[in-house]
Amino acid sequence: MRKKYFLDLEEKDIYDLVIKNGEKKFCAEQVIDWVYKKKVEDFLQFSNLSKRFREVLADKYILSGLKLYSKEVSKKDGTIKFKFKTIDEKVIPTVFLPKKDKNIVCISTQVGCGIGCCFCNSGKVEFERNLSQGEILEQVIKVENITGKKVNGILFMGMGEPLLNYENVILAIKKFINPKMFAIGRKHITVSTIGLVKKIYDLSLERLGIRLAISLHASNDIVRKMIVPTRISYKIEEILKSGLFYTTQNDSDLTIEYMILKNVNDSINFASELVNMFNKIYPDKKKVKVNLIPYNDTYEKKFVKPKQEKILEFQEYLKKNGFLTFIRLPQGKDINAGCGQLGC
Ligand code: SAH
Repeated sequence: MRKKYFLDLEEKDIYDLVIKNGEKKFCAEQVIDWVYKKKVEDFLQFSNLSKRFREVLADKYILSGLKLYSKEVSKKDGTIKFKFKTIDEKVIPTVFLPKKDKNIVCISTQVGCGIGCCFCNSGKVEFERNLSQGEILEQVIKVENITGKKVNGILFMGMGEPLLNYENVILAIKKFINPKMFAIGRKHITVSTIGLVKKIYDLSLERLGIRLAISLHASNDIVRKMIVPTRISYKIEEILKSGLFYTTQNDSDLTIEYMILKNVNDSINFASELVNMFNKIYPDKKKVKVNLIPYNDTYEKKFVKPKQEKILEFQEYLKKNGFLTFIRLPQGKDINAGCGQLGC
């Protein structure tokens, strides 16, 4: 019989498994503690469980499914770009971003990406399959065990479109926020999406209270069509309305990601369009934050990053018009670990 991947089990499955094997109910809590709190990756080391039960687990389940394939450390800021190999030998990227007061992990949700944005290396990797919830979770377990650092923030911004792997992403988030498991604060988890309106409404109603970021990258539908594949046919106004709906259902702000590209979307006219759009649908702007992402070079050098003055001018305009606006500082540039650079 083929072994099952333990991290794909739900909490209830773990209880059932314990009972089925004649162990006491509290053993399920011990297993959860070993796997998700202590993050021990070998059943045989679960020392407060009977030897017999440990052996049953090891016999039937795989606990460590991802294998370290490569690891590059940035000399500039300590960012680490990992690649892991799944059981079926697919390679996925995961990035560790050490910050002053937090350790953040940027995780992948799919092997390849079906969206195919022309400005993004991940978009160039052909979509093969969704990652299971266990494969999503294990990226964080591996990063903690390899770095020895406690992870306290998660970005769903690696390879793939999280909302196209909706069910597994939701299951994984529930484990990330579960106090008996990863116990990561809801506000320290961000899902970034290209703007799949229907799924954003679904996510809103899950009421998970995590952060939502939308990769808008344009202030009008013509520019958006130019840079985001036409299969994503939602209009900017619809996308923003779904994002605003999210803020009404969750105690959370909305982040608009605006990748800034020289001579494409970097002039003040575009900043002004964005302001006008919001003045129409949400003049208050209180629950919205704009993250300006300076373009990072990709394999196809299709676009160019604007000069810093231009980016600052764009930011200033948005700020003056009521938006909380930040410029995302590039991390791991020397190892190509920045946004859009995670090919495989
Ligand atoms: N598919 C999701 C998750 C990717 S998140 C999404 O589209 O949101 C990664 C972020 O980096 C997105 O905002 C993405 O649009 C942005 N990005 C992609 N390529 C980039 C590049 N070359 N330079 C800067 N940002 C880029």
